[in-house]
Amino acid sequence: MIIDIHTHVCNKKIWKEYQKESGGAVEKIIAIPYFDKNSQDIPRIPDVEELLEFTDSEPSIFSLGSINMDSDLESQLARHEELLREDRIVGIKLYTGYQYFYPHDEKVIRIGKLCGKYKRPLIFHIGDCFDPEDRAILKYAHPIHIDDLAKLCPETNIVISHFGFPYFLETGNVVASNENVYVDISAVMVEFDTPEATRKLQEQYRDDLRRVFTYFPIIKNRVMFGTDFAGENTPLKFVQPYIELIRAFLDEEQQKNAFYKLAEKLYFK
Ligand SMILES: [Zn+2]
Repeated sequence: MIIDIHTHVCNKKIWKEYQKESGGAVEKIIAIPYFDKNSQDIPRIPDVEELLEFTDSEPSIFSLGSINMDSDLESQLARHEELLREDRIVGIKLYTGYQYFYPHDEKVIRIGKLCGKYKRPLIFHIGDCFDPEDRAILKYAHPIHIDDLAKLCPETNIVISHFGFPYFLETGNVVASNENVYVDISAVMVEFDTPEATRKLQEQYRDDLRRVFTYFPIIKNRVMFGTDFAGENTPLKFVQPYIELIRAFLDEEQQKNAFYKLAEKLYFK
């Protein structure tokens, strides 16, 4: 059993591409919306309502919520509480670096408490931002700020996406220090211009993970499988290399955790 906790599969076409790429090895996936569907930066990713129209009719695909921190919080909290209550979303994703707020912001704590109440995780895009328009501010996306939030919301499970690329050691430190913080390995292995460059990137990620797992072996128990798959015509087109990575680093029990046990505990219990 494998669950992919981080994809941007948002229509039937991308879902077909995903199934082809994964060779049918992945049974369940989580699709992630963007806070603003009109964004010029990431035009392909729909917002929550638009994504739900797709995932509601796909039994193997589950949606996250996402709150736009620049617009009215009260109405969005109310809507997300409704969606959590009806099990139509399995967590909430926030984009700190794109929207200029820290994870320990008072507003985030309110969202964190809502997630805690419904026992669903709060997920953050952490680390480097895909940002063709040069708008993101990296300090907000640094993993160190998750440490404060984890302590302010001890009842809430928190997920750091993309292993906080490129802040792997800092991410490892924060995960190791907080039992309620988890991490996914998605998105680091994108397709570069040449096969050689792509291969080197995959090797470098292995080397970096080897280093962080050596320093913080405990976090091997809190790693989850995720790909960030966004379609076969995008740089985020890989599934198998992430499966191989999990198999290369983790023992049998840790692999079960990474492939589905943690996902079931955090998103589906
Ligand atoms: Zn993503």
